[in-house]
Amino acid sequence: MSDAASTTRVSDAVRRLLPALQDFNRFEGPDRAVPRSEWLALIDEPLPEHGVGPDDVLALLEEVVISRGLRVGHPGFTGWVTTAPTDIGVAADLAQTVSAAQRWWVQPGNHIDAMAVEWMLQLIGFPDSFVGQFTAGGSSANLIGLGAARQHAGEKLGMDAARDGVAGILRPAVYASEQAHHVVGRALGVLGFGRAAQRTVPLGGDGRVDVGALREMLGTDLSAGHTPVAIVGNAGDVNTGKVDDLAALADVAREHDVWFHVDGAYGGFGILDERVRSRYGDPAEYDSFAIDPHKWLAAPVGTGLVVCRDGDLLGRSFTIETGGYDRERETKAEGDPTSPWESTGQGTPDWGLDFSTPARGVAVWAILKEIGADGIRERVVRHNDCARLVARRAAAEPELEAMSEPELSIACFRYSVPDMTDAQLNDLNQDILGELRRRGQSLPSGTWIGEQFALRPCFINPRSGLEDAERLVDDVLEIGMSLTH
Ligand SMILES: *Cc1c(COP(=O)(O)O)cnc(C)c1O
Repeated sequence: MSDAASTTRVSDAVRRLLPALQDFNRFEGPDRAVPRSEWLALIDEPLPEHGVGPDDVLALLEEVVISRGLRVGHPGFTGWVTTAPTDIGVAADLAQTVSAAQRWWVQPGNHIDAMAVEWMLQLIGFPDSFVGQFTAGGSSANLIGLGAARQHAGEKLGMDAARDGVAGILRPAVYASEQAHHVVGRALGVLGFGRAAQRTVPLGGDGRVDVGALREMLGTDLSAGHTPVAIVGNAGDVNTGKVDDLAALADVAREHDVWFHVDGAYGGFGILDERVRSRYGDPAEYDSFAIDPHKWLAAPVGTGLVVCRDGDLLGRSFTIETGGYDRERETKAEGDPTSPWESTGQGTPDWGLDFSTPARGVAVWAILKEIGADGIRERVVRHNDCARLVARRAAAEPELEAMSEPELSIACFRYSVPDMTDAQLNDLNQDILGELRRRGQSLPSGTWIGEQFALRPCFINPRSGLEDAERLVDDVLEIGMSLTH
């Protein structure tokens, strides 16, 4: 037997990359951009007619993909809501890729994946009756939660929306704050409601969705013949990290028998910090929930989780009518299988979008086993402390201005000079951000709060702590000073 691909030397292939991976993860020196000209010529070519064999490919993985990768795991990098995975997450992902890469069928990966879902539900505080499923990320987790909302709205009208479509759901409306993530609108497009079905509810003075305004919009819409499909709550918006008053939103949803979906892709883990726990209300009141282990838990990117109150409804929302070739999976064996082909899988492809899929939960299980619930709790509290430290210093330093009160691990602030207009301060702070990025030591991102540009660190990286928050503030002060004197 011969095949063009190497299939018998996986340990040699992996071993070859290990020194470069270890070097990369030391994050030594500043995090400078690598010029495109440095790597593009090494890889840019049309589809090769003939392969070069494994060694040349490994060399390119080492030299280009690893060595010149963007170091989002650098302790000073606070620009995104995602971060680089931890050691055990990487190792577990490799293990499942090799040995458990079909979640529904391959044991023990399937069992571990199902257990990781249970652990996540316990961590957040859901009742046992809730179900969950790992997804490719928060985008698909929100889509699936809103797919359950679609099914719920249809069934109230005596329809099966997954089978018959949404034409019978007249003038559908989904309520989300102006800080809702853009994937919510896209999900409404994919689900057949159209992005225009999204009702944008304004924020109140505290930066959270205005529940009174929501009630009014619902009332007006109902009398105009709209069908409310879902209320979407934010458990941590990605601009300022605010958590909506989820208990109040749950009440409004119950009053109208409307589905209550919570987007906690970034901030869902914030419930682990006692200081802000009450903001989340009782998760038992959520109908569906999205959370990304590839954010605060630092699982490999490609790991989201959707949670739903009703597994049967979720199954009807994403029913896949199985073909003859895989009907055997419907007969699940109890106890030990008698042949490797006997279906013993837990969970079901009817709870989401994927059919063939990796056992993403293996990495989540491994990470939770490594650090425990206290490990992630301690991380969340530390990162929330980082944001509070930045806000405290921004309020105390005369040259700085705090622009939001941190609830989770995001702080918004700017360098400020008396007599400068907002427009001038916007330019100045964008210049400061540019200089921070050139130096490569503290790497926040920026955001707009109304018409004001803010520096926005989001602390999510397991490698970052209070010293990185201090350094960021020092760097902003120093750069701001040098640009204005
Ligand atoms: C990250 C994020 C999303 C999108 O999730 P992906 O994992 O990037 O697909 C949606 N909503 C919120 C609040 C997020 O933080």
